[in-house]
Amino acid sequence: MTIPHVSFRDSVERMFTHAASLMDLQPGLEEKIRVCNSTYVVRFGVRLRGQIHTFTGYRSVHSEHMEPVKGGIRYSLDVTQDEVEALAALMTYKCALVEVPFGGSKGGLCIDPRAWNEDELERVTRRFTYELSRRNLISPSQNVPAPDMGTGEREMAWMADAYKRLHPDDINAKACVTGKPRHAGGIDGRVEATGRGVQYALREFFRHDDVMKKAGLEGTLAGKRVIVQGLGNVGYHAAQFLSAEDKALVTCVIERDGAIRNPNGINIDALRGHIRATGGIKGFAGGDHRENGLAALEDDCDILIPAAVESVIHAENADRIRCKLIIEAANGPVTADADAILKRKGVVIIPDMYANAGGVTVSYFEWVKNLSQISLGRLERRHEEARARMLVEELERISADTGTNFKLAAGFKDAFLHGADELDLVRSGL
Ligand code: GLU
Repeated sequence: MTIPHVSFRDSVERMFTHAASLMDLQPGLEEKIRVCNSTYVVRFGVRLRGQIHTFTGYRSVHSEHMEPVKGGIRYSLDVTQDEVEALAALMTYKCALVEVPFGGSKGGLCIDPRAWNEDELERVTRRFTYELSRRNLISPSQNVPAPDMGTGEREMAWMADAYKRLHPDDINAKACVTGKPRHAGGIDGRVEATGRGVQYALREFFRHDDVMKKAGLEGTLAGKRVIVQGLGNVGYHAAQFLSAEDKALVTCVIERDGAIRNPNGINIDALRGHIRATGGIKGFAGGDHRENGLAALEDDCDILIPAAVESVIHAENADRIRCKLIIEAANGPVTADADAILKRKGVVIIPDMYANAGGVTVSYFEWVKNLSQISLGRLERRHEEARARMLVEELERISADTGTNFKLAAGFKDAFLHGADELDLVRSGL
């Protein structure tokens, strides 16, 4: 039997279509919500190492039903227009779900950030910012980028500085990007926010016996066997918080150069130190190394946390997945086909748009702080915790009412809120 390949974009669209089909949307509205409003593609040259190099970048705006639109900028050789558009759509749904008042957008640059030194990356980033700024695709009131895969505080600081130089009179210039370092207008807790959100979503899940039972889980997070794929910003913080604060056992970490396993739990900080020192997980003394990292997704465990890229759990491997619960820390790691197979197997999935919304939630506080110069202290963490609590209860209710899993329940809530906003826009003739 040949299994049809479903792209990440198809997966996101199928999830949305299915969720929308459970509702009574006005004819045509579903299609209007599904499509991306615009995608800007730019190719620009930068002279580096004595030669001109041409880079391709994207910024896609999925929906401006609320402004500014919000979403990260990814640096990776795998960036494509399809991927950026699917990620932009997820940003709209994510913001609507957690009621953060932003539309959805996403950007990407086709670049291998490891192939260039810091000065070179800075020149490329400043030039990309210039290109985005010329089209209002970076702007405190219209479009506010943030970190994503391959970018972080450093890139956001360069972007904010480049924007300020291009718009010296904009008193809100600092709010043009979020995820900046503290000294450049950033906010405490933003770096770890997405990983923290994953932890809060899991803690919430473990407070509800009935949903835990669905997954065949009981007790607390303590001692639960966890597999984490990707020890980047999101995966590292989630793994670190879960092991240090909730006493979960991270029994396996999957990275690009294989997997490290230790049934007694991996010391996450030590492993991260090793990756920083050597560039990979190979040679780490605190566990056994296995070359084929992705095969370790199929290892027996309680909780699987895919925290790297999209579509790693697909129609071909879904049947072999042996965890009880998957929490989508990355955007779109489980394809629509895999979702159906896992549902049949009784594996519960906590969906990306809920699980990884901690980043954009704290971004909202950074943006507000930059606009009004109000110091918010540690309020944002309490807010994130309260939001996680409310949402699990809501998703449980919606999934019971509609007879669906959590992923569709999340889409349902988004389609409901987003549909109302889009309708307002259509009605107003805009
Ligand atoms: N890249 C993050 C995400 O996918 C952050 C978005 C933001 O803070 O705007 O949610």
